[in-house]
Amino acid sequence: MSRTENVDVVVVGGGPAGSTIGSLLAKSGHTVLILERETFPRYHIGESMVSGMAPLMEELGLIEELDARFQHKSGISLRWGRDPEPWRSDFSAAFSATGSHFTHAWHVTRSEFDQLMLDNARKLGATVHEAAHVTEILRDETGRVTGVAYTQDGESRRATGRFVVDASGQGRVLTRQMTETTWQEDLRNVAVWTYFDSYTPIEYKDDILVEAIQGGGWVWGIPLSDTRLSMGYVLSAGKLSEATRGGRTQGDVFLDCLESSHLARTMVDLGAVGELKTTRDWSHVCDTFHGPGWVAVGDSAAFIDPLFSSGVWLGTSAAWLAARAIGAALEDAEQEQLALERFDTLYRQMFKDILAYVRFFMDPTRLREEYEERALQIQKMVTQNSRVGFVSMISGVSAIADVVDFDPMNVEDVEDVMQDWDEQTAAASSTAGD
Ligand SMILES: Cc1cc2nc3c(=O)[nH]c(=O)nc-3n(C[C@H](O)[C@H](O)[C@H](O)COP(=O)(O)OP(=O)(O)OC[C@H]3O[C@@H](n4cnc5c(N)ncnc54)[C@H](O)[C@@H]3O)c2cc1C
Repeated sequence: MSRTENVDVVVVGGGPAGSTIGSLLAKSGHTVLILERETFPRYHIGESMVSGMAPLMEELGLIEELDARFQHKSGISLRWGRDPEPWRSDFSAAFSATGSHFTHAWHVTRSEFDQLMLDNARKLGATVHEAAHVTEILRDETGRVTGVAYTQDGESRRATGRFVVDASGQGRVLTRQMTETTWQEDLRNVAVWTYFDSYTPIEYKDDILVEAIQGGGWVWGIPLSDTRLSMGYVLSAGKLSEATRGGRTQGDVFLDCLESSHLARTMVDLGAVGELKTTRDWSHVCDTFHGPGWVAVGDSAAFIDPLFSSGVWLGTSAAWLAARAIGAALEDAEQEQLALERFDTLYRQMFKDILAYVRFFMDPTRLREEYEERALQIQKMVTQNSRVGFVSMISGVSAIADVVDFDPMNVEDVEDVMQDWDEQTAAASSTAGD
């Protein structure tokens, strides 16, 4: 018979979202088992963090280590919009507007960052099994998720818990089976990228660089260190397939893109393009982020095009929210539905805000002022300054208060959620009666 471990919470996936929820639940005294398919360190794309993550990194006790090991990120430099002049936004402007002591984010080599996060989860008390491949979801007779089956060292094993968290990224181990997923057809893209081992920095050398490419798509430049630059191209899957007709390769298309990119021509030697990497980049969202006995966070729940580097921030913020919702449900099983519903509502709102803004911004024919004005309307900070509004929105800073103050059992907030439910139920039954 296969060996079974029993814990409070089983987490599938040890990426940033999985290690965050594992760390926080273990820190608050719950037993946690994280099952990660790979052996770390392992390669991953997603290298530029946003400053909205800083409070969570402080909560996890990682700020000093991040500062010591990774390149600071001060802001974003853009060549985007109807006006050809480059423009820039500084992350510290968003923090200054809130009186916060934080100033910056980080550009990270993900293999090292993810290892740091997973090791920290161990340090905070989570048990972590690497090379542990989850293959099956276990459910009881009511359909409630009760655990998973996995293989490790050629052996079949089981892990059971009061909750199972899907943090398996694009693997979508639970969400694939437990819910429907809506794919955003207009954001069905492909990314191609490479690394340069020397480059000429631009004026704001710590910024992420983003440039719209004539003819479609956009380019990123991420300074991982003073010598190493990550540079990639995001293009719609349809345009890429048109461009590769007649025997042209993705490499040819990438080179054409770099040749027409002002940033690439200024910063790198186009004769030194190394090994190319490529992946699908298709935004999606699950119909629900939770169900009886399970919760999904990170890419397994929702993914947005990396235009504003929001992936790790959104996934880890969701993990912070979910840790509190699961914590409340572990304390009092009767609160499970309400706590998970509240987590779902807030996470979904954060996703929708970014998605709406990415869609607006993807049109590169507007003026800087229009991009900033729209951001001001969506973001949540009290400011009339559209430049501050823009940087607060794209850095995640405007959502910090919602995330940090989230309390799934706050009575006033609960009343709001109950009222929303009542309204939704009334609307649903009147539609059903039509
Ligand atoms: C081209 C591109 C560029 C991007 N750039 C950025 C960026 O600059 N900044 C940013 O913040 N985000 C970026 N992202 C998004 C970012 O990569 C993701 O949002 C982020 O990695 C999600 O974290 P996660 O923890 O949810 O998933 P992951 O980091 O993917 O972790 C999931 C883990 O689950 C494990 N797993 C999967 N299946 C199983 C299984 N069956 N059993 C056990 N374990 C399993 C995997 O091995 C993996 O380690 C980018 C994405 C793309 C496609």
